[in-house]
Amino acid sequence: MIGGVSDAPAYLDHAATTSALPEVIEAVVEQMGRLGNASSLHGSGRDARRVVEESRESIASDLGVRPSEVIFTSGGTESDNMAVKGTWFHHFENGTGRDLLIVSSIEHHAVLDPVEHLVLEHEAEVAWLEPDGLGRITSQALAAALDEHADRAALVSVMWANNEVGTVQPVAELASLARKHGVPFHTDAVQALGQLPLTLGDVGADLVSLSGHKIGGPMGVGVLVAGRDQSPVPLTHGGGQERQLRSGTLDTPAIAGLAVAVRMAVAEQELSAKTMVGLRDRLIQGALDLDPTIEVSGPWEPGDGTRRLPANAHLRVPGCDGDSLLYLLDAAGVQCSTGSACQAGVPQPSHVLLAMGVEETDARGSLRLTLGRTSTDADVDALLAALPGAIDRARRARGATGRS
Ligand code: PLP
Repeated sequence: MIGGVSDAPAYLDHAATTSALPEVIEAVVEQMGRLGNASSLHGSGRDARRVVEESRESIASDLGVRPSEVIFTSGGTESDNMAVKGTWFHHFENGTGRDLLIVSSIEHHAVLDPVEHLVLEHEAEVAWLEPDGLGRITSQALAAALDEHADRAALVSVMWANNEVGTVQPVAELASLARKHGVPFHTDAVQALGQLPLTLGDVGADLVSLSGHKIGGPMGVGVLVAGRDQSPVPLTHGGGQERQLRSGTLDTPAIAGLAVAVRMAVAEQELSAKTMVGLRDRLIQGALDLDPTIEVSGPWEPGDGTRRLPANAHLRVPGCDGDSLLYLLDAAGVQCSTGSACQAGVPQPSHVLLAMGVEETDARGSLRLTLGRTSTDADVDALLAALPGAIDRARRARGATGRS
């Protein structure tokens, strides 16, 4: 197409979800064409069971854990709920006196809301870990909370990397502190998988949540990696699948697809991170060159993919509403987000930015731009071409409504 402009939108929202890999689709379709419940005893059932167990072994080997530690779930949300609620209820039901949770205040709602449910409905207590201005939960903050609460704590939960601002947490340090105090450590690694090396066997966590659709796997499937010494109370009851922790017929096609996605995410992580960092840095620098009043949330050092997620850019544009920017960019063929997808449409400033000390007015003008395997320089160019016009119109719109 000489001199033409592609009509395909520039998709810069891969943290919300990313496209399924062709190899994943192939694996899912192959299994969908087969008959068999992995819990049945006849030949078809045994075939389905073989696929599930081979997938479990493959995922365990890619993550450096034992196959028996891999519990299949319906995704990141369920894994987080199992870790938080399941562990808290284990202590409640066994009367251990451990009724307190130590949780970072910048978790995804899949962790925050179960915690708040336990507080409101079951009188759980919570000690919140507040981040610094870059969104980091320091080991000093966790050490102070453990010194005060370790004897009553059921669980520490700190995400591996933040889904909005991309800050990577010092999980190995935090897990080792929790271990020293005898408190299990859970980390939501949904955004970290595929972007950072996840050496789960070395990091010392007790529970790790993962999701398929953020890495090119199917939607509606994920994993809770749970150490053999962890006994969260099951949240669903029925057939007793998955170590009695998660009843329900196993989704063989999705599990087969997930194993392919994890294998590729882990195998390609290093190379992919390098490409993402290059695109991310060009995007951030390009936006700052267009408008120097824009601020970058979280740690950003060009070339670095260890302190900030390689594929995450989070910008705050003064004088704009993020929602206006989102719709104007969407109309111009650029798809992005103002924060986590689960909050879209809820016109409230992000709890993550507020916890980092960002003023409410500044927090309203946020844009999250996230890259993925299919991202190209052309996507970044499309954003940089559309941004000045969108900022101008969003600022005029805010001026017209009088909202500060
Ligand atoms: N945790 C984090 C950090 C996420 O970013 C998400 C999805 O946005 C989830 C949990 C929920 O995962 P799922 O969509 O698989 O339920």
